Amino acid sequence: MVETFLVTGGAGYVGSHLVLSLVEQGARVTILDNLRTGHRAAVAPGADFVEADLADAATLEQVFTAQRFDAVFHFASLSQVGESMRDPMRYLADNVGNGIRLIEACVRHGVNRFVLSSTAALFNVADSRLIDETALIDPQSAYGDSKWMIERALHWAGRVHGLRHACLRYFNAAGADPDGRLGEDHRPESHLIPLVIDAALGRRPPLDVFGDDYPTRDGTCIRDYVHVTDLAQAHLLALRQLDHGSLVWNLGNGNGHSVREVITAVERISGLTVPFQIAPRRPGDAPALVAASDRAKAAGWQPVLDDLDAIVATALAWRKAHPEGYGN
Ligand code: UDP
Repeated sequence: MVETFLVTGGAGYVGSHLVLSLVEQGARVTILDNLRTGHRAAVAPGADFVEADLADAATLEQVFTAQRFDAVFHFASLSQVGESMRDPMRYLADNVGNGIRLIEACVRHGVNRFVLSSTAALFNVADSRLIDETALIDPQSAYGDSKWMIERALHWAGRVHGLRHACLRYFNAAGADPDGRLGEDHRPESHLIPLVIDAALGRRPPLDVFGDDYPTRDGTCIRDYVHVTDLAQAHLLALRQLDHGSLVWNLGNGNGHSVREVITAVERISGLTVPFQIAPRRPGDAPALVAASDRAKAAGWQPVLDDLDAIVATALAWRKAHPEGYGN
C-alpha cells in the first residue's frame, strides 16, 4: 500500500532532502510550507505542495481533512540561533505555537506517528564530551528552547493521546544532495559551510569567525557536521522504529570540527583561499557540540558521507553549479 506523509517545511533545507527520499521510495507526500525560507524549486517533482503557514488553522484543517496521513514530519520552523536571541518571543510564539497546533491536528485526525526536526542547541556542554540523549538539557538560545518545548509537548501527546514520536536532534546539518539536485540556500545565509564557500568563491566579504577565545583546541567553536542525506536516511529509519515506540536520537558523526578546521577543509577541497577575520562571539553559541549517536546506530543508522571533506565537496559542487542558489 502506498504510504502518505505530510512534511511541514518540505521546501526547506533538510525537509526537501527528506521529501526527495520519500518520493524516490514511492510514497505520496504533501508539503506544507509558507516559503518564507523554503524554495518552490526545492520541492521534488511528484510531491503535492500547499503554500501556507502553520498558523493558518483553516488550511491546516483542510490538509488533514483531505487525506489520511500515515505520519507527519515536522521541519517548518524559525531556525537561527542569532536571530532568536534578538527576538526570543517571536521564536517561542511561532515555533512552539505552530508545533502545538500541528500536534493537536494529528491527535484530532488520528495520525499516530510524528517525526520532529529537533536540534543539538538543546545542549550546553563545556568540555569535549560526546553528547548523548541523556545529557543535561540546557538551551543557550530561545531557538533551542523552542525545540525543547515542542519535544515536551510531544511527550505529553504521547503520554495522554498515544502519539508516537521521534525527536531527532541534529547536530550541524550540512552538505548537498550528492547527485546535485538539492542544496543549501538560506536567506540570509547564517550557516558556516555555505558562508565559508561563498567567501572562498569571492561572492561575499571575508567571513566573520565568531570568537576565537572559546575553551577549545584552537579557540573557535567546535561542531559536528552531519550530511543532510544521511539525516534524511535517519528520518526514514526513525519512522520504522516508531512501530516499537517513541524515541529520541542525537544525530551526528561523533567528530568535532572547529570553525578554523572548516575553513581549512574548504581551502583544501576548493584550492581557493578563504578570507576571514576574527569577530566577537555570537550570543547563544555553545563552545563545542559533538554527538554520540549510539542509539540511532544501534537501530541501523549508517552515515555514508561522514567525513568533513565529503560534506564540503557536495556543498561546494552544488554552490558552483548554482551560484544564485535556487534563484530569485
Ligand atoms: N560561525 C562563524 N561565522 C559565521 C557563521 C557561523 O564563526 O559567519 C560559527 C558559529 O559561531 C558556530 C559555527 O560556526 O560556532 C556553526 O554555526 P552555524 O550557524 O552554521 O550552526 P549552529 O551551530 O549555530 O547550528
